[in-house]
Amino acid sequence: MTKKYVYSALIIAAAAIAAFGMRVLLGPRLRQAGSGYRVVMGTFANITAVAADSRTAKACVEAAFSQLKRVDELMSDYKSDSQLSQVNRDAFKEPVHVDDDLFEVLDIAVEYSGQTDGAFDVTVGPVVKLWREAEETGALPPEEDIAQAGSKVGFEKLILDRENKTVRFKVDGMRLDLGGIAKGYAIDLAIEAMQKAGAIGGLVDVGGDVRCFGPPSDSKESWLVGLQDPSVENQLLLVLKLRGVAVATSGGYRRFAEIDGKKYSHIINPQASSAADELVSVSIVARTATAADALATAVSVMGREKGLALVESLAQTEAILVPGVKDQEIIHTEGVRRYVDTTQPVPVYSTASKVAGR
Ligand code: ADP
Ligand code: MG
Repeated sequence: MTKKYVYSALIIAAAAIAAFGMRVLLGPRLRQAGSGYRVVMGTFANITAVAADSRTAKACVEAAFSQLKRVDELMSDYKSDSQLSQVNRDAFKEPVHVDDDLFEVLDIAVEYSGQTDGAFDVTVGPVVKLWREAEETGALPPEEDIAQAGSKVGFEKLILDRENKTVRFKVDGMRLDLGGIAKGYAIDLAIEAMQKAGAIGGLVDVGGDVRCFGPPSDSKESWLVGLQDPSVENQLLLVLKLRGVAVATSGGYRRFAEIDGKKYSHIINPQASSAADELVSVSIVARTATAADALATAVSVMGREKGLALVESLAQTEAILVPGVKDQEIIHTEGVRRYVDTTQPVPVYSTASKVAGR
């Protein structure tokens, strides 16, 4: 080695030692701020932000939360003053002008309807409403009511005017329901807000649907996310090691209507106007939370065979399915393996498994 190289090597070594010394003196380079569980969108949300200093990290958490609240105010069908409720009231009479975000989520939703052969359909509202009422009264809806509600469903009856950002219904009695996609969309907006506010890493969990990016800390590369076992309370099915992706879970195991001792999932097969019950739980890993959320609902309806075929056809998308019949093994796409953490019996982070009352 020439003298020049020896000197350069020494300088690099000295710089590395100095940098390490500074780290020891100044503490960790990255700071984490966590929100703890807060109620939003009818469920619990938990946000963690990682930034160069604590103040930025805290500001990132709040920036993300304000997006969740904004989406909820815009898209909740439980709130009579939300823009979605206004659309449901007026869109048959006249075109209703909506906010860019509501228009975008409807546009994306219709795209997923096409891609899933109508298994995912935001116009499923009349049938969802019927089953919600049945849950309250404890009686199954009459056949003719189911047929009547079913006749109002169909994404091709929804008119979206891109230029004027208006929504219109072709049929009286139509009703939009964003329950299968709004959470994912809100998570994506929250992640974007965090990144804009200076976050280097972060995780947003809304009711167990999660998206994360960057590192969780100086010493960790990826986020550990536990998926709840649908058949055993407070037990994890597995732990995923994630970075830069989202995971969403749909399933009848947490939210269902119980009528005459039988459980009916809140996920509806739009073609049959009845509960989709082949799979107890479907988790989808995808690039965005919007995609993961919509696809988890769609695959729940499509069932094992068609659902897996769809997911296999999509880039950077994986699925974990739990069949409805007990003792049947879980099914997953091959690509899931690279996310499963086999070394970790206890997760650092586990998703929200409770659903808050409305
Ligand atoms: P979770 O609410 O547990 O996150 P999902 O993401 O699957 O589960 O959302 C279920 C909700 O989506 C239902 O409560 C209903 O509001 C709506 N929904 C039900 N069936 C469909 C469907 N086929 N397509 C689109 N949305 C649906
Ligand atoms: Mg969904």
